[in-house]
Amino acid sequence: MLLFPDRPLELGAATPRLSKSKFLSGLQCHKRLYLEIHQPELATEPDEQTQAILDMGTEIGTLARQRFPGGVLVEADHRHAAEALQRTAELLRDPTVPAIFEGAFEFDHVLVRVDILERVTLGQDGASAWRLIEVKSSTKVKDVHVNDLAIQTYVLTGAGLALSGSYLMHINTQYVYPGGELDLERLLVVQDLTALAASRQADVPSRLAEMKAMLVTPAPPTIEPDGHCHQPYECRFWDHCTKDKPSRWVYYLPGGERAIQQFVKHGIETIDEIPSQFKLSVVQRRVKDNVEWIGPHLKAALQTVRYPVHHLDFETFMPCIPKYPLTRPYQTIPTQWSNHIESEDGQVLHEEYLCQDPKDSREELAVAFLESVGSEGSICVYSGYERSILERLIEALPALKGDLTRVMARLWDLFTVIRDHYYHPGFQGSFSIKSVLPAVVPALGYSDLEIQEGGLAAQQYYRMVFQETDWVEKMRIREELLKYCARDTLAMLELRRALLAKTLSEPS
Ligand code: SF4
Repeated sequence: MLLFPDRPLELGAATPRLSKSKFLSGLQCHKRLYLEIHQPELATEPDEQTQAILDMGTEIGTLARQRFPGGVLVEADHRHAAEALQRTAELLRDPTVPAIFEGAFEFDHVLVRVDILERVTLGQDGASAWRLIEVKSSTKVKDVHVNDLAIQTYVLTGAGLALSGSYLMHINTQYVYPGGELDLERLLVVQDLTALAASRQADVPSRLAEMKAMLVTPAPPTIEPDGHCHQPYECRFWDHCTKDKPSRWVYYLPGGERAIQQFVKHGIETIDEIPSQFKLSVVQRRVKDNVEWIGPHLKAALQTVRYPVHHLDFETFMPCIPKYPLTRPYQTIPTQWSNHIESEDGQVLHEEYLCQDPKDSREELAVAFLESVGSEGSICVYSGYERSILERLIEALPALKGDLTRVMARLWDLFTVIRDHYYHPGFQGSFSIKSVLPAVVPALGYSDLEIQEGGLAAQQYYRMVFQETDWVEKMRIREELLKYCARDTLAMLELRRALLAKTLSEPS
């Protein structure tokens, strides 16, 4: 099929039209592609966080277009492919158009929309060729991007377009935002992937032929779920493909993909079937034993805290497009903290901070935090995350370096205490606080909260501060964020108490 079609496109009924994303799905897993085409209703709906990532990609794509003044957007969406193809053909013929956004092309039953096509003039006869530019919100080139460019290059050249090269435009994390207007030339860098995409393009026809043959079979191919379901993208058919797996499926054993593969190769389906001669890590052994284990030094480890015990959690966000002067893309910015303070007599106080204005609140947050933790007692955290946030605050706020450094010396990590001294079957091999809390303190979990993990908290923070205009909705999000952060710190306090209670029969 060539450019400038003068009649609507008709495809053979037995040959489904593929898109770029369907082709990439097919490269990941033929079953995924089959289900996307024939049974899309079996997919899990994207959650708010996934949607936020998609929205971010759209925002970056719109920003990138500003680097091509005079460029024209092909507005017809994916439901109006014939109009999009027709409009693209018109723009290609118009020599005054310097760039086309979302241009549509079809070849070999594959329809692609190209983020940016930039017209370049070759030679003295003034002939046009085009630079294909794919825009991503990622921070580096990934293998999937080369496949992405390979299928686009295949379709565009097959459709008769003269391409001068294939490029990836992505975020430059070295860009330091000075404030004011964004410098798009520095925020978005362009990498020439022409040679890589061309070498990958040679495989495209055979890959496509395999996919098309597979798609006309009456049932999806038999493919077992495993590590390939998560790379390069999380497959949304995971729940469907694993719904009949046993609760102690060997794939749930913590550890690398290769370790799991060796069990699968030996026909082992559940963790309980793993023979004793297999070498397992300490954590894998605990998961296999599936019994509660209280280490002999748990009590001593818990008793190393100093009162008053502060329980600290920071929440952060990482804006792809920097929001504050002297910050970089995707820099982690703390926005909120919670502190449950337990005194030696068991009394508990709660203090918290959350900035809801679109300003750089790091200094205000740090000053309030220093006041809350004072100069006495341990500061209980869960993992090294809070330490890394304090280190970043020191970099950003040199005037507070002394105070923040002294605070860091008081950090006390509950995660390492639990990892080294306690295990419960309910952990299922995970020591994340979301797994540990319901197992050790069944009355307290996260299921009653609207925000149940940090990624969603970051996304909701961004929405509250930079997008939402409805005041009532802003207040609702604020309440949910406060509840979530407070639950993390209350969780640490209750975990410490519950674990100490388990050791009470032991001598001091
Ligand atoms: S979950 Fe895995 S096996 Fe199932 S369709 Fe997706 S990628 Fe394929």
